[in-house]
Amino acid sequence: MDYPVNQLEFEKRFATDDACKDYLFKLRFPNGFICPLCSNPGFWKQSRDRVTCNRCLHEFSPLSGTLFHKSHLPLTLWFRATWWITNQKQGVNALGLQRALGLGSYRTSWMLLQKLRGAMVRPNRDLLRGDVEVDEIWLGGMGTIKEVYNKRLILTCVEKNGDRIGRIRMKLIPNTSGETLLSGIQECVEPGSTVETNGWQGYLLITNHGYKHQRKITPDSRKDIREQNILPKVHRVASLFKRWVLGTYQGRIDTKHLPVYLDEFVFRFNRRTSKSRGLLFYRLLENAVQTKSRPYQAIAGLRSKPCLDR
Ligand SMILES: [Zn+2]
Repeated sequence: MDYPVNQLEFEKRFATDDACKDYLFKLRFPNGFICPLCSNPGFWKQSRDRVTCNRCLHEFSPLSGTLFHKSHLPLTLWFRATWWITNQKQGVNALGLQRALGLGSYRTSWMLLQKLRGAMVRPNRDLLRGDVEVDEIWLGGMGTIKEVYNKRLILTCVEKNGDRIGRIRMKLIPNTSGETLLSGIQECVEPGSTVETNGWQGYLLITNHGYKHQRKITPDSRKDIREQNILPKVHRVASLFKRWVLGTYQGRIDTKHLPVYLDEFVFRFNRRTSKSRGLLFYRLLENAVQTKSRPYQAIAGLRSKPCLDR
């Protein structure tokens, strides 16, 4: 893997849009160019923006189908934003990014962040496996963030790595019905794994779908205390998430965008022991070349202006 290891190297390597384009081309076609229409490996590179397949003559922009397609912002700015975001261990809010990059517009900073957050989940990522703790966590009742969360329900899956926490997945779910829990678990955990849950009967369905199920029931009548004791790793992760939202975003995130904040938290958490921040930069760009760009309106929802994430 080829990535800059420090700020100086980053600045040297990605001083121009052409250098960024060449880097993205290599990330997108790590095993060499393959025509997206006919899978032929031969091509002519007319320019950095246009490649022609030498069999079917399909013309192709190396940035189409990526996060950077049709962006009016220079790639050097995208790269600086990616570098900055991945170098801040706890993440950064839109105002912080605006200041760090000297951006004139808060809206541009907010959009860059939201788009990059949306690329933090790798398409077709691996599922958790082995022993996995699963619980549905209510967010809310946390003082300042109570109203903001409006009591959202998050399916939290935590891989057990001996006594330690392995990889995690978090997913917003609408309810705790058997079907919802099953499909959430299928999106996060590999069949054949042992899934540890609380005693809620909604989880019973999973044994019919290839999972081993370990129900943990204790007699303590206080639900929150009880679940912290029987599923300690999930509850540790949930409290770290809440603390992160309070620390990085002062508890002010828009619930409409909660899924991308969950993605960001999971991205950072799963790479928390990574020694190289450059590797995170590489991983995020690697995802970004596989992630389609969405227009600003779709990302911002129906709101006329972005807010809350300050
Ligand atoms: Zn072709």
